[in-house]
This record gives sequence, C-alpha cells and structure tokens, in this order.
Amino acid sequence: MKREFAVIGLGRFGGSICYELSKEGMDVLAIDISEEKVNEFKNIASHAVIADTTDEATLKELGINNFDHVIVSIGDNIQASILTTVILTDLGVKKITVKANNDYHGKILDKIGAHHVVHPERDMGKRIAHSIISNNILDYLELSDDHSIVEVKTSDKMIGKSLVDLDIRANYGCNVVAIRQGNDINVSPMADELLQENDILIVIGADHDISKFEKELV
Ligand code: ATP
Ligand code: ATP
Ligand code: CA
Repeated sequence: MKREFAVIGLGRFGGSICYELSKEGMDVLAIDISEEKVNEFKNIASHAVIADTTDEATLKELGINNFDHVIVSIGDNIQASILTTVILTDLGVKKITVKANNDYHGKILDKIGAHHVVHPERDMGKRIAHSIISNNILDYLELSDDHSIVEVKTSDKMIGKSLVDLDIRANYGCNVVAIRQGNDINVSPMADELLQENDILIVIGADHDISKFEKELV
C-alpha cells in the first residue's frame, strides 16, 4: 500500500523533503501559507494547497489525520511551528516529524508529543566539522545525544596493522562494526586481518571516545 505524506512549510528543508519524496514516487500533499511557495510545488507534489496550519479547522478539512506521516518544517516562526504541532498531536496524527530551530524549540516539540524532532542545521554542521578535522573522516552520524558513528579512511597509523595491534576497543572504547573495501562491506571484521590503504572503517562509540580515536589514530 502506498504511504501518504504531508509536508507543512515549503522552505529549503521542507521543500527538499517534498521534492525528494515526490521524486521517489510517494504521494505528497504540500502545504504552505504562501501562495508563491505553493505554486512552486504545484507540479512537483501530488497536491499543493495554501493553508495556515495554525488553524485547527483548516487541518481537519484537509483530512490531515488520514496521512501516514506529517512533516512540519516551519522554520523561523517558532510559534506557528509549535501551534501546528500541538494541533497535529491533538488530532491524533500517526507520525509527526518536526524541524527544530534550536535546542529549546526541540525540547518543547518533544514535550508536546512530536514523534521525531530533527535539527538539520546543527547536525549537518557537526558532520561537516568532523569531515573538516581530517580528510580521512568521511562521515559522522549522531545516534543519540552522546553516541555517534564515524566513517574513517585508514590513516598512516592504521595501514598494515590489525584491530588487535591497534587495540581499538581497549584504547579508545570504540567498536569497529564494519570495514568497507570498495563495494564490499565486511560486517564482522577479523581482529587479526591487516588494514589496507583505502579501507573504510565504520566505528561506533561514545562521543568522547570517538573524539579520542579521531585525535590519536585518524
Ligand atoms: P528553511 O529553514 O527550511 O530554509 P525558511 O528559513 O525559509 O526554511 P521559513 O520561511 O521560516 O523557513 O518557514 C518555512 C515555510 O513555512 C515558509 O515557506 C512559510 O511560508 C511557511 N509557513 C510559515 N508559517 C506557516 C503557517 N502558519 N502555515 C503554513 N505554512 C507556514
Ligand atoms: P576483548 O575481550 O577486548 O573483546 P578478545 O579477547 O575478544 O578481546 P580479540 O577479539 O582478538 O580479543 O581482540 C583483541 C583486541 O582487538 C580487542 O580488545 C580490541 O581492542 C581489538 N579489536 C578486535 N576487534 C575489534 C573491533 N571490531 N573493533 C575495535 N577493536 C577491536
Ligand atoms: Ca531557515
């Protein structure tokens, strides 16, 4: 069965979600208070409507609780974002994802029952900062407030050594969960296999342990 999505707020973030979901063949209702924005998405989304989503009656009329997943991406107007989210939770929408502008906004969204709160600017900033620290750090993904996954290319300190030689778990408290060589991904890396140039290690751990690993070994 095809899932139905509604995207509220067609700024850069909401617009990009709307565009990508539509490109993947999903059913998307695009909603914005601005006529100009809605016109922009008329030919991209399945449906595009002008609406002020801080009005409960309007959301009811749109049949918003028939959607499988509603994404709220009202950027700068925190009040409108919070009001919209409260109405969506009150109406019993099954899945609500909301973009937060800052940590406090995020905390409020959590408290009022948003199912998933995202911080795209903050998280993308972190990812880019880590990839700037070293050319060997390819990606950085936050798992929770204090745990992350980092993808690193083998550094000179690693090439020709095994996981046992480097004693990564004992020295850094991190775990190598997989090693990628080209298109092959080995999800149970042998502890005594020698690491090669261009191997990519996928490492999971607490943020402070990953920092130590990045500083000393990458
Ligand atoms: P981004 O940060 O994703 O680039 P942005 O900075 O453009 O977005 P805003 O312009 O603050 O963010 O908001 C995103 C969209 O939300 C805008 O297109 C705006 O018209 C829409 N929007 C604001 N208030 C409402 C509302 N009450 N109902 C529906 N849409 C709204
Ligand atoms: P441990 O009790 O620490 O798990 P072990 O007796 O199971 O060690 P090995 O699995 O041979 O011994 O690994 C020895 C050391 O090599 C580990 O203590 C760890 O530091 C490192 N190591 C092995 N596999 C990994 C891995 N996947 N990620 C990070 N470090 C590893
Ligand atoms: Ca913005």
